[in-house]
Amino acid sequence: MSAGLVTGLYLVAGILFIRSLGGLSRQDTAQRGNLYGMIGMLLAVVGTAAIIAGGHGVLTAALVGGGLVGAVLAQRVGMTSMPELVAILHSFVGLAAVLVGFAAYLSPEGSLSGAAKTIHEVEIFLGVLVGAVTFTGSVVAFGKLRGSISSKPLLLPARHLANATMVAVSFVLLVPFIQAPGASGLWALGVMTAIAAVLGVHLVMAIGGADMPVVVSLLNSYSGWAAAAAGFMLENDLLIITGALVGSSGAILSIIMCRAMNRSILSVVFGGFGTAEGAAPAAGAKPQGEVRSTDTKGVAKLLLESKSVIVVPGYGMAVAQAQHPLYEVATILRKRGTTVRFAIHPVAGRLPGHMNVLLAEAKVPYDIVLEMDEINQDFPTTDVVLVMGANDIVNPSAQDDVSSPIYGMPVLEVWKSKAVIVTKRGMAAGYAGIENPLFFHERTQMLFGDAKKSVDGILTELKAEIG
Ligand code: NDP
Repeated sequence: MSAGLVTGLYLVAGILFIRSLGGLSRQDTAQRGNLYGMIGMLLAVVGTAAIIAGGHGVLTAALVGGGLVGAVLAQRVGMTSMPELVAILHSFVGLAAVLVGFAAYLSPEGSLSGAAKTIHEVEIFLGVLVGAVTFTGSVVAFGKLRGSISSKPLLLPARHLANATMVAVSFVLLVPFIQAPGASGLWALGVMTAIAAVLGVHLVMAIGGADMPVVVSLLNSYSGWAAAAAGFMLENDLLIITGALVGSSGAILSIIMCRAMNRSILSVVFGGFGTAEGAAPAAGAKPQGEVRSTDTKGVAKLLLESKSVIVVPGYGMAVAQAQHPLYEVATILRKRGTTVRFAIHPVAGRLPGHMNVLLAEAKVPYDIVLEMDEINQDFPTTDVVLVMGANDIVNPSAQDDVSSPIYGMPVLEVWKSKAVIVTKRGMAAGYAGIENPLFFHERTQMLFGDAKKSVDGILTELKAEIG
């Protein structure tokens, strides 16, 4: 294949990747976005296979092997374990950048000299640096998300100084590396890689479990920059474009997540916020009032008497997989003329878009699924809000308790509606590990039990009531 044709393929692939990201930003175009990405990747692989001089057997083996592993993993992974999978995939990108860097240094193509040699070696150095931080940081993030490493932040004394020293020493090593003739600067590259690997471990160990998904998103961004650096080393334009797209979209997503959780990005990168999930409620003022519980019959009756209902899904709905019967409940009510809508908080569940994916899987129409900003003003005129396995995202302390760790986080103002039903198994805290005064509110009733069993029960009662 001619070089021009390959460049053309890469250009089309690059455009498809951009269109893919655009498509993924909306639920109704997400499938198309995925398709664009897949076609783009296919073109990228074809283009790459066409320009390499040999080694097609190795490439095919790697593609088939990697493709099979990827397909099996994607089939098996549950939505709630997705951040773990993403973390380990980022570690592969980081490791790939390190390996490409070493390979590019040890077998330099052509004989570069002067400024071109220096630029090439700086690319290698930076690519390996970012790659090594991404590799070990992602492995630690994976361990924390799986629970095989404690989610408690490891806060060593003078840790910022230690990090700054590691970064400074790494950059000092750049000088002997670029001054060394031939490949004799390998020792400097090796020492820097070891330091960067320790830096990656230390940076992520210092971050609490609650911030881990934001860290995964940040590592996603780092992996993009590592890939872009590898693109410069290999003089591959498409890898540069793709790396930059991943790097910048990961950074934007991290910022969006931080805003929705009312965290500054710097506090996530260097902070120690975050407790173990499901822990006993810890911080914030003790809620006042009584907990009133109800049963599925009572909830079905209340729903049948309502003109407007808003459903707020959260992590518990995902765990219980209650979205299918939930949509059946919504369908019955809608057929009777009740307005039913779903309210989505930007960080409901455990990854951005988590609830949208589950509701789409249950075939809930997009036009009744609204984002927090679109629906928050409608709660005062709503008869019943059904909080389905959500906790932190409907916690009023975020607005009225300055001592609460989530104070300032935007939340769904469900307590302003006429009645609130909260479905969860007990009184355990959510991800942030804090009490929720909503459960003690005078207009709240608790429907205790697994979300799926509770919704099945409501469905049976509804059917019995309407005959
Ligand atoms: P939460 O984690 O706050 O609460 C979920 C609730 O679901 C728990 O209190 C639990 O209570 C209940 N639950 C668990 N299993 C079941 C079940 N089988 N049936 C019924 N209920 C169940 O979830 P939210 O969605 O409200 O909030 C998301 C949290 O995750 C926020 O703190 C957010 O900041 C954080 N987060 C989200 C990210 C994202 O991108 N979406 C990323 C990082 C963090 P009980 O055990 O009593 O049943």
